[in-house]
Amino acid sequence: MGQDRLKRAFGDDGPGLDVDFRAMEQIATAAARGLTEGTLELLLQQQADKLSTEQPCPACGTLCPTTPHTRPLTADGAEVEQTERKAHCPDCRRDFFPLRTALGLDEHGYSSSVLERIVTAAARFASFRDATFAVQMSRVGISESQVRRLAHKVGAELVAERDRKAVEHRRRQLASRTGVVPEVVGGGRWGRIRTRAAGRPLVSTKPRTRRTRSPVWPR
Ligand SMILES: [Zn+2]
Repeated sequence: MGQDRLKRAFGDDGPGLDVDFRAMEQIATAAARGLTEGTLELLLQQQADKLSTEQPCPACGTLCPTTPHTRPLTADGAEVEQTERKAHCPDCRRDFFPLRTALGLDEHGYSSSVLERIVTAAARFASFRDATFAVQMSRVGISESQVRRLAHKVGAELVAERDRKAVEHRRRQLASRTGVVPEVVGGGRWGRIRTRAAGRPLVSTKPRTRRTRSPVWPR
């Protein structure tokens, strides 16, 4: 596809003596972009074709039928139309996109590398205006309001993650004070809590020269 573009631009003989380097550079960049977009779209299509037509809901596990779906996705040096599949869980009353998790994509239409660039620019530059300009310079088409929205969204996700860790930490502290050691074995919002087997000593009775881990968390 790159060769076609070159032929269209310069003919079979290549550029004439009047063509400057800037024109060649523009044609070559456009050809590379076209190649990247074509490659990514083909790979996404091939992967989507492998997905079975029914997929389990990530929340409740109900098997739901999937339908073809496409959306615009901004990748590094490419704007692609992502071919994927969409499903609707009638029990949870929500849509889900079974291919996105393995791809490392989410509801933002940006690849991880582009998202990282946007968030880094938003953190580094004094204003969203400058951050937007920096991102645009790296050939990513984005508006200032989009940069602002993504930076706030990712910031909120980080705060939520920090709060989740703080709750877990408090739960552990509480457990060590009451002498009951909970063990998360999965399932449910907080996991099922299993208390320690009765009769086992709470604190290791073995003498230790160096404490390598909390005595209330023996393995
Ligand atoms: Zn569900």
